[in-house]
Amino acid sequence: MKQQLEEIIHQVYRKEKRNLFTFLTGAGISSDSGIPTYRGIDGIWVKGTQFHKPEEFGTLRYFRQHPEEVWQYALFRKKMFENAAPNESHFELAEIEGMLKDRFHLVTQNIDNLHRRAGSTRLYEIHGNNREIKCSNGCKGIIGLPEEVKGKNIDEDLTEREIELLTCPDCGHWMRPNILWFDEYYDEKTNKKFSALKVAKNSGVLFIAGTSGATNLPLAIAETALKYGAYIVDINTEDNHFTELIKNKKNKLIIRERSTEVFVVIKEIIKNLNKDLM
Ligand SMILES: [Zn+2]
Repeated sequence: MKQQLEEIIHQVYRKEKRNLFTFLTGAGISSDSGIPTYRGIDGIWVKGTQFHKPEEFGTLRYFRQHPEEVWQYALFRKKMFENAAPNESHFELAEIEGMLKDRFHLVTQNIDNLHRRAGSTRLYEIHGNNREIKCSNGCKGIIGLPEEVKGKNIDEDLTEREIELLTCPDCGHWMRPNILWFDEYYDEKTNKKFSALKVAKNSGVLFIAGTSGATNLPLAIAETALKYGAYIVDINTEDNHFTELIKNKKNKLIIRERSTEVFVVIKEIIKNLNKDLM
């Protein structure tokens, strides 16, 4: 695995164009931090709302019918995210970014803020994030979640003051978390759709870790990278939608190991780049 990674990284590093090192991460990266995946049997949507599947509960449609319940749940998750700490995988990526600087990009499906807390900055949060809110009725503008609105336990109700803070000052409808729900489409303003695809187009290699490619933008990112000649490195514990996409392609490397260990190897290769390539 190390030798193949080395060949790919050296080759991309020497390229003059389309030479970005892009990482695409998903829920699997945060599971070592104790954050369950959405769709898994222990998915946090399922845990919080025993009667609903995530695809039903995590929708704008459901929010319109039950805004308080969805907010209670969002604030429960906020507390869970705040109590979690970034793990080795997050820190390794932040270190790799520190070495590659502008040639590094990180596209994440996670909304838990752990990449940022570990120090990553060249970040595209394509499923939005929990720190921001916007009007559910379509008024423009995305603002920070007010400080006064704190994380909650699963059975805690919203206070009157919180309901006031979560009301759109312009039209009086509910504000909502700035995250992508299952019945919504990716766009640039909230999801960085076009920026992420542009990064994919200019990538020399796309490392995919902790995500199975169950939604369409991550898959489109991989397809775009492939189309413009990038290598795809699939770092996951089992086969997934990305594996399906690349299995008959030449520019690929499939690694069935834990992401943390693979990131350490990648970091070492990058650390020695200048020495090895002289
Ligand atoms: Zn509004």
